Amino acid sequence: MHDLGFANVHTESVQVRHWDRGVTACELVTPVHRPLAVGALGSSVGTPAEGIDAEVLDVPSLEALAALPDAAVQGKIVYVHHVMRRTDTGAGYDDSVDIRRDAASAAGRKGAVALLLRSLGTDATRAPHTGSMVYATDAPRIPAAAVSTADGDSLHRLVTAATSGHPVRVHLVLGCRTLPDASGVNVIGEIPGTDRADQIVLLGAHLDSWDLGTGALDDGAGVAIVLASAHRIMQSRPPRRTVRVVLFANEENGEAGARTYVHQHHDELSHHVVAIEADSGDGRVQVARYEGTPTGAVAFERAVALAQRYGVRLRHEPVRGGIDTAHLGRAGVPLVVLRQDMSRYFDYHHTVNDTPAVLDDEAIDQAVAVWALVVGELASAGENLGRTTEGQAPR
Ligand SMILES: [Zn+2]
Repeated sequence: MHDLGFANVHTESVQVRHWDRGVTACELVTPVHRPLAVGALGSSVGTPAEGIDAEVLDVPSLEALAALPDAAVQGKIVYVHHVMRRTDTGAGYDDSVDIRRDAASAAGRKGAVALLLRSLGTDATRAPHTGSMVYATDAPRIPAAAVSTADGDSLHRLVTAATSGHPVRVHLVLGCRTLPDASGVNVIGEIPGTDRADQIVLLGAHLDSWDLGTGALDDGAGVAIVLASAHRIMQSRPPRRTVRVVLFANEENGEAGARTYVHQHHDELSHHVVAIEADSGDGRVQVARYEGTPTGAVAFERAVALAQRYGVRLRHEPVRGGIDTAHLGRAGVPLVVLRQDMSRYFDYHHTVNDTPAVLDDEAIDQAVAVWALVVGELASAGENLGRTTEGQAPR
C-alpha cells in the first residue's frame, strides 16, 4: 500500500482462532487396502493418536441422516456423498455449505465416531477441499474431514456395492487441535477524498487463506482487484469521497476481522456510504447489484452503465455477496456486489491447487477495470449515498 501511494496505511489488531491441522492420514481398510486423500475441516477436533477405525455409513444428505434411527449410525464413520453442482454464480456452493458446517454435529448426535464428506468442489481430482465447520453446543464433537471428490466417488461405489456383507471400513488419523487465540491484523489504507472526505467507500478482501494451498484465488485475487482498482482511481482523478481498502484477517475461520472492524469503527459506521468486497476469485465480473438507498441506486445504475461494455449486467434479485462486508450490511451500510464468474473457482477453492499457476490474468484485468469504473463513479457521485441525509450529523 505504501508503494502504491495509499494514505493512512496502518494495521488494526484482531484476535483470531488458532487451529492447527496436525497430521492427516486416512485409508480404506476393507474391502481393499488403499489410501484416501482427505483434509480435516477447519476447527475439527483430532482423533486419538492411534486413529479411528470404523465401518462407513454412506448418506446422500443431512435430511437422509436425520431420518435414520440412532442405532444405524452408532459407532460408524458417516460419509455424506453430496455432489456439488458447477455454476457460474456460486449457487452450487451455497446449496452445499450447510453440509460442511453442520454434518459433524448431526452425525455426532446420533452416535457416529467421525464425519467424512465428499469435498465441496467441482474438480475430479484427489485434492481435498477444506473449509470451516461449526460444532453445535449440544452435540458430541467428532472429527470431521473432507474426502477428495475422486476418492469420495470410489468410497461411495464401494459402500453401495458392499450391501452383501463386505463392510467398508476406514482408518482415520487427524492430529487437529485448537490452541489459545492468536494475534492477527486487519490491514487498512486510504485514498483521501476531496470535498466529501468524511464519507467512506469501503473496498474489502481478505488476507488469510486456508493452509493447504497458497490462497492465490481465495483471496489473493480479491486483494489484487481491490488494490489495483483503488490505485487506478488514485491515478485518474482524486475521488470526492475517501476510498478505504480493508484487507480483513480471519475470513475463513471465524470472521473475526470483519467483526472486529465493525466493533472498532462503530462510531463512524454511518460515514460508510457503500461497501464492496472481492472474494470470488479471478473470474470476470458478470452481474452488478446494489442494496442501499433510492438515491444511491441512481448513482449505481449510472456506474453500471459505464461497465456495460465489459459485459456487466444489472440485477435486482439477490446475488452472492461477501462474507466480510455482510457484517457491514447488517450494520446498515449499503452494499454493492460485483458478482464474478465462479464456474472454475470451485475446482481449486480451499485445496492444495489454489496457487498462482491457475490464475486467469485477463479475467482479473477485466475485474479491475470494472471495479475502477463502478467504484470511481460511486466515490465521486453527486447523489447522497449514505443512510443519513447529506450534512446530517453522523450517529
Ligand atoms: Zn475467500
